[in-house]
Amino acid sequence: MERAYRLRTIPPYPFREIAALKAEKIQRGEKLIDFGIGDPDQATPDFVIEAMTEAIREPRTHQYDETGHGYPEYRQAIARHMASRFGVEVDPDTQVQSTIGCKEALVHIEWAYVDPGDIVLVPDPAYSVYKVQATFCGGAAFPMPLREENGFLPDLRAIPKSVAQRAKLLWLNYPNNPTGVLADLTFYEEAVQFARDHDLLLCQDASYVEVYYGEAKPASVLQVPGAADVAIEFHSLSKTFNMTGWRVGFAVGGPQHIEALSRTKSNVDSGTFGAVQLAAAHALDQYAGWAPGLRRMYQQRRDALVAGLRGIGWPVRVPEGAFYLWQRVPQGHTSATFAEELLDKCGVLVVPGGVYGDFGEGYVRMSLTIMAPNPVAAIAEAVERMAELRVTF
Ligand code: PLP
Repeated sequence: MERAYRLRTIPPYPFREIAALKAEKIQRGEKLIDFGIGDPDQATPDFVIEAMTEAIREPRTHQYDETGHGYPEYRQAIARHMASRFGVEVDPDTQVQSTIGCKEALVHIEWAYVDPGDIVLVPDPAYSVYKVQATFCGGAAFPMPLREENGFLPDLRAIPKSVAQRAKLLWLNYPNNPTGVLADLTFYEEAVQFARDHDLLLCQDASYVEVYYGEAKPASVLQVPGAADVAIEFHSLSKTFNMTGWRVGFAVGGPQHIEALSRTKSNVDSGTFGAVQLAAAHALDQYAGWAPGLRRMYQQRRDALVAGLRGIGWPVRVPEGAFYLWQRVPQGHTSATFAEELLDKCGVLVVPGGVYGDFGEGYVRMSLTIMAPNPVAAIAEAVERMAELRVTF
């Protein structure tokens, strides 16, 4: 039977193909070092598991969450977290939505706002979901190139007026997947002004906001005065607390945008399991004691990889945030041929930059989430193997 147009127009989810390739190599007994999918290799902290164990005994968590926007305990913990971490006040009753991880919310915000013929402004390279949803909604994604010489920030002034006029959403994602850069408040101010000028919704994907390496903490777009009128921000517990499988996150923003998301969601899903929401509330309350250790762990890996690659002569841009290193490919290679060579000759799995968009071509992404008994030692071994290639840039 012929599938719907929307499915015929999109490629398979890239990470499913990469996962299949990896499984095949492992089955053949190859000793793979995996810098592929960005999925934390460490366990969810015990304090979250303990909170979950307790919460699951509460009979109310076995039923539908009839609030539509999340348990009050979870929304209040989110409001406390936004205030203590970002200095942002949100009303837990009208400005907060519990989500099934971040991915689900990124999808549903597009369904809430994008009509056929509308334009969605999407960074390139980027997480594929923003663009695919635009197509699903009958709209079109307009790429905003993220260029190295521009610090991998989009040049909003380069967006043609006619395009901006038809645009409904503007996507940002900082700390950025795949480039590993941060955006500062000045850039967010510019983006908020752009959203105001063109009457569109600024959607900031803050999935990696707690993974950063310097002293300066990444900001929330809601720190820009009045941003909630034109912006919504998506957070996730996936990366901050090693909880990718738990499927829990949240959206914060203006009440009108939260209501639009909530109305879409309640017609599609029935929310995150209540016990998971209660465990997530507890996790957020423990954030300040937990997150510095998480950051130290990734920083050790980042430093090992940067030093290792520089030691073999690779030109490395040091990641400022997220757990990705965005590596330019050597002379004579495309993203795909270099990724293939690393896999075949070194047993090192990386993601070819082209899967993140046309402007990802010429790069590969290396994730610091490495499933190995000693990830720093695995990084050293990978560097040793890659040194053998003797590539020039
Ligand atoms: N946004 C970005 C940029 C991501 O890289 C990912 C996952 O890798 C997600 C969203 C999805 O995260 P979640 O597990 O919260 O759905």
